[in-house]
Amino acid sequence: MTLDADWAERWIRRTADTVAGRRDELTELDRQIGDGDHGENLVRGFRAVVAKLDARDGQDGATEAAGPRLVGDVLKLTATTLMSTVGGASGPLYGTAFLRAAKVTGRESIDTRAVVAMLESALEGITVRGKATPGEKTMVDAWTPAVDAAAQAASEGGDEAAVLRAAAAAAAAGATATIPLVATKGRASYLGERSAGHEDPGARSTALLLGAAVEALAE
Ligand code: ADP
Ligand code: MG
Ligand code: MG
Repeated sequence: MTLDADWAERWIRRTADTVAGRRDELTELDRQIGDGDHGENLVRGFRAVVAKLDARDGQDGATEAAGPRLVGDVLKLTATTLMSTVGGASGPLYGTAFLRAAKVTGRESIDTRAVVAMLESALEGITVRGKATPGEKTMVDAWTPAVDAAAQAASEGGDEAAVLRAAAAAAAAGATATIPLVATKGRASYLGERSAGHEDPGARSTALLLGAAVEALAE
């Protein structure tokens, strides 16, 4: 199994399928502590990315002439498309995450160290953009344990699949762990104490995104 541009493309396409399938769930989470558009925002954004991938894959000659496809090319296309099509907080946040991730994956394939660097860079982008720290009930609460778990798995000699699986599992646990938290960033912070008792939609979508990265390995 190689984490190349084809894997990155499968990852993004699978994310589009997953957020479409789970749209109502994400919408419901955001309805409880936000404005109820998180599902729709992500469906629109990732559908637009898939349309661009389809258009690009249609021009085989052009892409071959441009040289080998890099993992970062797919992630950069994802970043710019999410930024331009998703209104709301999550568009710029995921957009910046993918843009930073693209900067450290400008290669034909990525090894375990590069996977960790990719996840670290994504979290850095989200943090620079949104200024949230762990515990504020945002997507940072899924990304932070994901990065830690990936680094841990890599240091224990895990392969790319093990590193991605560790990240996805930790993101899912991190999302669940946002339930009791009181939001202090984003729309949910307007609710104050009343935000407690609900899972953060962005943390959940982060878990879905990283889960899709694992599923893309097996395809
Ligand atoms: P909006 O809140 O503008 O409607 P979305 O509903 O698409 O945008 O996204 C909401 C999610 O964005 C939240 O659940 C949270 O995870 C994330 N979020 C909001 N603000 C921040 C921030 N400052 N830092 C990190 N994540 C944030
Ligand atoms: Mg919203
Ligand atoms: Mg909104």
